[in-house]
Amino acid sequence: RVSDDVALENDLRRAMSEGELSVGYQPLVDLVSRRITGMEALVRWNHPQRGPVSPVEFIPMAEAVGLIGKWGTMVLHTACQDFAWLRGQLGALAPETVSVNLSRAQLCEPSLVSGVLEALRAHGMSAAQLKLEVTESLAAQDPAMQARLHEVKALGVTLALDDFGTGYSSLSCLHELPIAVVKIDRSFISLAQTSDYHRVLIEATILMARTLGMGTLAEGIETVGQATLMRTLRCCKGQGYLFSRPVPRDALVAWILAEVPGT
Ligand code: C2E
Ligand code: MG
Ligand code: MG
Repeated sequence: RVSDDVALENDLRRAMSEGELSVGYQPLVDLVSRRITGMEALVRWNHPQRGPVSPVEFIPMAEAVGLIGKWGTMVLHTACQDFAWLRGQLGALAPETVSVNLSRAQLCEPSLVSGVLEALRAHGMSAAQLKLEVTESLAAQDPAMQARLHEVKALGVTLALDDFGTGYSSLSCLHELPIAVVKIDRSFISLAQTSDYHRVLIEATILMARTLGMGTLAEGIETVGQATLMRTLRCCKGQGYLFSRPVPRDALVAWILAEVPGT
């Protein structure tokens, strides 16, 4: 396992220069109209021998060896560039926003705000077209990170709280965070129909978020039943394999065109 990790770490250092990293996009869907409203950028690593490696495996490693800053910048720029390209291709049918995940190391970086501004300018985007996703444990943990989040928000960029329900701050901390959207973790969505506890927690989250003027989005919707339930609970946005897996930008264009009635 250790020698495996060391080998993977060495490969990771080479991955970016060798062009093994790419960015996939998963549509964020309006659960009522089923139209795409946004897209989430998710980094992909296609290892020459191992094939696709999950970001759950390699992101912590990239953080540990100090590669995440460079990567984060690559993902942000690629996502903004592809977003601008999609707007050019699709006009009014294009997603209205692009969401990019931020890691702990990026949130600690004082240059985060200038980096975000630079990416927006380079690709002719308004701040309102960019969403940044942070996880619950990250956002709540540390006053310095909270201050950084406020700086980002002041630019006009929207913040979303990722994987909600899996951290330890939960409902009691929501009001302290400068976020606009709460993303309810897949582990809750997958049990929503069978576990009263999970469904009630989802209901409470939606109610609390609405009271605080925040939106909600259900992650990891895989079945029509889950989509219907979330809509009934008045969570009006979702993402998941039911709609589409994360795909390259060209495949996203094809997906969007196929979803439009009459085309
Ligand atoms: P996340 O931000 O919560 O992203 C959603 C994850 O759920 C993605 O996994 C996506 O492929 C997966 N997913 C979406 N719908 C479904 C579904 O219906 N069923 C199932 N089983 N899974 C679904 P992925 O791409 O493996 O990414 C995992 C995590 O890695 C992300 O979770 C995010 O925390 C992190 N990550 C991915 N890309 C980046 C990046 O560019 N930067 C940073 N800092 N983190 C990233
Ligand atoms: Mg995310
Ligand atoms: Mg998530």
